[in-house]
Formats: sequence, C-alpha cells, structure tokens
Amino acid sequence: MTPIRPELDAAAVAALAAEIDGLVIKPPDDAYGDARRVWNGMIDRYPALIVTCRSAADVAAAVRFARANGLDIAVRGGGHNVAGFGTCDSGLVIDLSGLRDVVVDQETSTATVGGGNTWGTFDTAAAEVGLHTTGGLVSTTGVGGFTLGGGLGWLMRRYGLACDNLLAAEVVTATGELVRASETDDPELLWALRGGGGNFGVVTSMTFRVYPVSTIVGGLMLFPIERAREVLGAFRALCARASDDLTAMATIHTAPPAPFVPAQLQGRLAIAIAGCHIGQAEAADAELAAIRDLGPAADVFAPMPYTALQSMLDATAPAGQRHYWKSGYTQSLDPGFVDALLESGSRMPAPFGQLHLHQMGGAVARVPDSASAFGHRDAAFTLNIIGAWTDPTEDESGVAWARASFSRLEPWLDGAYVNFMGAEGEGRLSAAYDDTTLERLKAVKGRLDPENVLRLNQNVAPKPSGGQPWRA
Ligand code: FAD
Repeated sequence: MTPIRPELDAAAVAALAAEIDGLVIKPPDDAYGDARRVWNGMIDRYPALIVTCRSAADVAAAVRFARANGLDIAVRGGGHNVAGFGTCDSGLVIDLSGLRDVVVDQETSTATVGGGNTWGTFDTAAAEVGLHTTGGLVSTTGVGGFTLGGGLGWLMRRYGLACDNLLAAEVVTATGELVRASETDDPELLWALRGGGGNFGVVTSMTFRVYPVSTIVGGLMLFPIERAREVLGAFRALCARASDDLTAMATIHTAPPAPFVPAQLQGRLAIAIAGCHIGQAEAADAELAAIRDLGPAADVFAPMPYTALQSMLDATAPAGQRHYWKSGYTQSLDPGFVDALLESGSRMPAPFGQLHLHQMGGAVARVPDSASAFGHRDAAFTLNIIGAWTDPTEDESGVAWARASFSRLEPWLDGAYVNFMGAEGEGRLSAAYDDTTLERLKAVKGRLDPENVLRLNQNVAPKPSGGQPWRA
C-alpha cells in the first residue's frame, strides 16, 4: 500500500532543487519508480523525496531540509542493506550514488573515495595502479554501509576488515555540519565509524589504506552435497592451519546451470569451498591441496586478476530478489553444528537460498578490541543464513526457513554482525556489541546526534552528553 505522502511546500522543494548540484526526485517523476528501490526486493517503500547528492554541501542541504520539514532520513550508499535501511516510507532518502570519486595516492598507499561508491567502482579505479583494500565479495555492494558495519572480504585475513583500513572520513552530521574523523581529528568518531554503522552522520568521503594486490589465486571447488561432511572436515582442518594469505568460505547452495558445473550436478544441492589466496601460485596450490585432494566435481581455482574474483559471485546476488537473512558467529564446526547446518541446507528455498560460512581469524583477530567498534574478533567463522526467492507468495515460507535454521543452529552461535542483520531491534544490537562498546557508541551518538535524527540503521540510542563538541 502506498503510504500517505506528507504535504510538502512545493516552493521549499523547488528551493532545495535549486540549491543542490544533484537531483530531487519525487512522485510522479519518471525516475521515482527505480530510485525508490533498494537491492532487497522484499523492501517496498515510498519516500516523499529522494535527493541524489553530488557533494557534501548537497548532503548538508538535504539534512537541513529533512529536519525543517519533519521528515525521516534514510541514507543510501549501495542500497544493499538487507533490512532496507537505504529507503523509507514518507521520508527523505539521501542517495549518495553521485559521490563516486576515487583518488588513489601511490606515495602514501591510500585511497580517498566518495561515500557512494560500490566495491566495483572503487576496485576498478584502484586496479589501474594495483592497490586495493579489503572489499565485498559482490562488486555491487556499497563501500559505505559495508565499511561502517565492519566489512568481511577476501583480503581480510592478511589486511584486516574494511573498517580496520579506514584512516579518515568526512562526515555530515545530523545538524548539517561537516566534520572530519581521523587519528588526529576526532579519533573517537573514527573509532565509532569502524564498525558502529551509519549512526553518526552521513559519510561523504572515506580514506583507506591500500596494498599492492594484482593477480591472486581465486575461485571455488564444488562437490555434491552428499560429500558435505568430509568437505567441511577438510575445510575445518584447512582453516585451522591456513596462512593469512588465504581467506576461504564454505557455501551450501543449488549448483547453477553454469558451463563449469557438470550436468549431473546442475540444479542439485551442492557444497563449495571458495577462496582467495594472495601469495604465490605454488603456495596457494599447497594450501588448497587439502580440498583438491578430495576430488571436487568442479575446480575453477586459478590465477586471476583480483577484480575478476571480486565480481565472480555477482550473478548469485542480482538486485530485486526477495531476501531474509539471519546470522551469527561460531567457534567450531563440531559434528552437532554440521548436522544442524545440513538439516537446514536440505530444507533451503531452492534455487536461490544459500548458507555461507566465512573463515575469520588472521589479521582480523589481531586488531585490539579497543581499536574499533567491531565486535567478536575472536570468532573462527561467520555464518550467514541467506533466505532468497523471487515469488512473493513464498515470503512466509522463506522467512520461516531462515528463522527455523537460526533456531536450529543457535546453540552453536554467538553474537551478531550488523551488516548481515535484518531489522531485529535493540535487543539484537547487544549481541553485536559488548556492553563497553555499546556504551561508548551511545556516547558518540549522543554527542553528534542527540535527537537520533539518523535512526534508520542498526540504531544506537544516543546517551545525553551535554552537547560538548570534540576538542583536540
Ligand atoms: P545501504 O543499504 O545503502 O546502507 C546500509 C546502511 O549503511 C544504512 O544504515 C545506511 O544508512 C548506512 N550507510 C551506507 N552508506 C553510508 C554513508 N556513506 N554514510 C553513512 N551511512 C551510510 N558484507 C560483508 O561484510 N562482506 C561481504 O562480502 C558482503 N557481501 C554482500 C553481498 C550482497 C549481495 C549483499 C546484499 C550484502 C553483502 N554484505 C556483505 C552485507 C553488506 O555489508 C551490507 O548489506 C551493507 O549494509 C551494504 O552497504 P550499502 O552501502 O550497500 O547499503
């Protein structure tokens, strides 16, 4: 149902459009139908205005307009958040897709990127000089939401999470003020941005540490599901002794009708070990032998440009599918956990549902807890239960599958990763952050957004701070 549209003063909307470099999109503009949508097809919201911003000044103007007109604010980076925080009903969407500058500085090994980049746009530009940072497994994912929530990616066991490589950010606050976060300018805000999500302001620019990465060994090995126990056993052993050059993931999914998949496996439930090795090819082969020796039905691990691996899984995550996710961290793949996982796999909505087990550890685990808001750095694996389907009549059964899978696996799970969470409320937030971290996040929120203007996110409630600005 289309929500009631707030009465907006047409002259004020026209004045906003005249003030900014970007666009103001509203119903019934032709662009509105596409502009209101986000990646998750389950999210069907009708904002009053969508402001596509081209500069921090545009963002500030949009924030001020929303506040003056009593509109909720949704901030959209790549629009991939499964809970749909990148849009809203009857409010104002700040769409950052016009902020896609990428400037790589080879001298300082840093890249400064606009807050609306996707990993595809960032990595494509960065590949020209062969310098990258940890990014998402699907290239259409936004750099903004991904990094602010933590950011698990193929380079993380060598170089840390995306948020660990965030060195500085320019942020438009809830009052429309432009502030900077770095180790010298408001380090507490930088700490909060490293894992605390989009709570603290609209990030218009982010500076990352980047590393030489060009050809990697990447791909996956695929097995029929009947071999899942031995494959997961080998995966567990591999993860226990892996070098930091390797980041791997086990996935249970329906084998696609792709040329590399043997005909007899296509359309059937399968298990894959996917990964990225950033060392020498011989070292990669030696580590991957533990899986290869099992005799996979398909093996497409090969040397390839890093950017090729970064888009290898894009076809598995098209925009518009209907998604419902549940997630948690786990320490071991013990037999009870594997039984529960395979039980969930056998009931999974086909062909789009997936179960992902991300290998953690390495550099992620070595960052001190106090250096970032990201929690659960000691986890061995992150589990993501991905309910996905296309037919709206399957909404109920798809959601029920993800919830039942979570209940079945919950005895082995601990904590929550904000980037894989749905709109699960404050209770679940305390699974993402320990008490000390949450109190610290609330204090930063209280200082920068005491009225909780930016609340369409995994929301941290502001703690009254007396309104003192940060001072060096
Ligand atoms: P959006 O929906 O645009 O935003 C998400 C949240 O971040 C919102 O609260 C928004 O307000 C806030 N936000 C976004 N940009 C900014 C900004 N510039 N300033 C302030 N707030 C901002 N996660 C991983 O860790 N590793 C993966 O490999 C991975 N792969 C994924 C693949 C797919 C297909 C999808 C759908 C998700 C994946 N994720 C992954 C999860 C992903 O990190 C989250 O969905 C994340 O929220 C996406 O960020 P976004 O900018 O695209 O989302």
